[in-house]
Amino acid sequence: MTLEKLENFSEDPQAETDSGAGMENPATLLAWVNQHANSLCAGCGVSLCGHQLLHSRAAAGPVPPRCLKCLAMSLKVPALQMGQNLTGYVARRDCYRAAWDWLTAAEPDCNYPNLVAQSCAKPEVSGAKPDLNQDPEHAAEWDSGSLGCGDLLLPLRGKMRALNAGQILKLIARDASAPQDIPAWCGVTGHQLILGAHPSYWIRRRND
Ligand SMILES: [Zn+2]
Ligand SMILES: [Zn+2]
Repeated sequence: MTLEKLENFSEDPQAETDSGAGMENPATLLAWVNQHANSLCAGCGVSLCGHQLLHSRAAAGPVPPRCLKCLAMSLKVPALQMGQNLTGYVARRDCYRAAWDWLTAAEPDCNYPNLVAQSCAKPEVSGAKPDLNQDPEHAAEWDSGSLGCGDLLLPLRGKMRALNAGQILKLIARDASAPQDIPAWCGVTGHQLILGAHPSYWIRRRND
């Protein structure tokens, strides 16, 4: 599997499913994961669990493994999309799915599958116009103007940080991908999206 191909996973769900070219043996995959157990990300040095090793193997092949963020950076795709692509990739291949399930049984306390699953959760955002009578009470409001989702997440982090735990930010985000990206971002960061009615999002700051 080459890096270039990964970018097309989401657009081409049937790719390599039946051709046999993408097929590997779960035992071979697990042997490779085992061989790299306790290794550190070749990019940033964080320690990698078995799930992360398997994702790295799926994305980049049998090269020194990297964490999701570093894989995403090397492919120039958002980390969230990287997680979604890889989840789809694993789900469509019996060999990877079997290896993934085996690792989940072997690492019962590992939080990585939850983190990735949250980032793939379907957005709970209605297309309905916000009912202004139900505008949840918020401590701050930020209109992100014309910022795209990739550009607003960093300032959004700052806005959330400026709040006290439990306080709510009302965010206006007009970017077309906000209904997917804002819930996913909340899932990853632990802030709680209490209401989303595009382009308005009410986000409660997490407890530290
Ligand atoms: Zn890394
Ligand atoms: Zn794990």
